[in-house]
Amino acid sequence: MIEYWNPQIERMPVDELKKVQEQKLCQLVKYVYEHSPFYRKRFDEAGVKPEDIKTLDDVTKLPFTFKQDLRDTYPTGMFCVPNNKLVRFHVSSGTTGKPTVVGYTDNDVKAWSTSLARALTSIGVGRDDVMQIGYGYGLFTGGLGMHYGAEEAGCTVLPTSSGNTERQIELMQDLGSTVIACTPSYLLFMIEAARDAGISFQDDTKLRVGVLGAEPWSEEMRKRIEESTGIKAYDIFGTSELSGPLFTECQSQNGIHIWADQFLVEVINPETGEPVANGERGELVITTLVKEALPLIRYRIGDITVLNWDECECGRTHPRIMRVLGRADDMLIVRGINVFPGQVESVLMKIPEVGEHFMIIVDRVNELDIMKVQIEMNEAAFSDKINDLMDLEKKVGAALKSVLNIAVKVELVEHGSLPRSMGKAKKVIDNRKI
Ligand SMILES: [Zn+2]
Repeated sequence: MIEYWNPQIERMPVDELKKVQEQKLCQLVKYVYEHSPFYRKRFDEAGVKPEDIKTLDDVTKLPFTFKQDLRDTYPTGMFCVPNNKLVRFHVSSGTTGKPTVVGYTDNDVKAWSTSLARALTSIGVGRDDVMQIGYGYGLFTGGLGMHYGAEEAGCTVLPTSSGNTERQIELMQDLGSTVIACTPSYLLFMIEAARDAGISFQDDTKLRVGVLGAEPWSEEMRKRIEESTGIKAYDIFGTSELSGPLFTECQSQNGIHIWADQFLVEVINPETGEPVANGERGELVITTLVKEALPLIRYRIGDITVLNWDECECGRTHPRIMRVLGRADDMLIVRGINVFPGQVESVLMKIPEVGEHFMIIVDRVNELDIMKVQIEMNEAAFSDKINDLMDLEKKVGAALKSVLNIAVKVELVEHGSLPRSMGKAKKVIDNRKI
C-alpha cells in the first residue's frame, strides 16, 4: 500500500497545483521587494515591478539569482528578516569559494522538516524505523536537516554523524538500524569495513533502506550497493542554499519529486536562459515559494537535469527531476569536451571486474589535456596474470572512449590504495588548475 504524508497536497490535480504556485509566486515577489534591498535593486535594474507578475508564465520576467550573489552579499545581505526572527544558521564549507550563509526562521525549519518527512514517507520510512544518520552534523545541513525530517516522519533517530566507522557498525547492529542516511561514498566505506570485520550488512543487520546523496552517484552504483547489501537505495536532493536535504525519490525510484506547493522548478538552456521544451535536458532553476528568511528567486542551482510532469506510478502529481548527471560546477572540460565524473562512474560500474573506487586525474602536457582514470579492481575478480590486467585496461579505456568521445588512459591500482571518504568523496584531481 502506498502511504502519503498528505494525500490532499501530494495528489492535487496539476492545474490546481499550478494555481497554488501562481498565488504563492505573486505573494513572494511582493514580499521580497518589500523586505530585501538586494531583490528590490535587482528587480529595479531589470525593470520589473511586483505587479508585473500576475501569472506563472510571468516568472520568466524575473532576473536569475546565482550562488555568487550569496557570496557577494556575505554573510546576510540577502536576508528578508532581522536576526531576531532567525532560529538557526548553516554555513557552507567554502571549499570552492567564499562560504555562503543560510538563515532560517521557525517556519522555515518546519517547512524544511515537512518537505523531508513527506519524502521519507514516500519511500515507506516512518514510525517503525530506526534511522542512523551518518551525514555530518554541524554547519553542514546534511546531519541536522535529515535529523529534523526523520523525527517529523516518526522515525527513531540514531544521530551518529560521520566517522567512527567501527562504532557505527556496532550501533547499527545493537540498536537495529533499519535505515542508513549518508553519502554513497561513506556507505561503501562502511560496507568494506564491515566486510573486513566479518560482518555482512545483509545477514547481520536489519538495514533495509539507504537514503543516499550529497554527492553525485550513478544508477550503476545504486545497483552495486543494492546487490551487495540487500537494501533499497534512494537518491536524495537538496542544497544548503535551498535549506538542505529536502526531496527524495519515491518507491518507484524514477526521479525525485519536488514539492510544487513549496518550490517552483524550471529547466532552462544554460547558455540562453530560455526555458527548454518539456522533457528536454537543461539547467535546474528553483524558486522557493514559502521561505521567509532567505527566499531565492529563480536560483541557478547548476545541476543538469530533465523535468518530468507526468503523473508518477506512486500517484503523486508533483513534478520529478530525473537523475541528476552532475552539477555544472563538477563538469570538467577536457580537450573542449564536457565530462561529468558521474558519466565516468556510470561506465566503470557496468564493468564487473572494476571495483567501486576510482580517481580521475587531468593534466596538461605540451598544451594538451590528458585524462587518466585510476581504478581498483573488484576483489573477487582479482587476477595476477599480466595479460588479463592489460586486457582489462584496454576494455575500460574503450568503454570510456565510446561514451566520453575522448581517449582516456586507464591505470589499474592495488585494491585499497585509493582514498576512502566518510563524507563527500573527492573523485577528481585537476592538475591544470594549480
Ligand atoms: Zn512517485
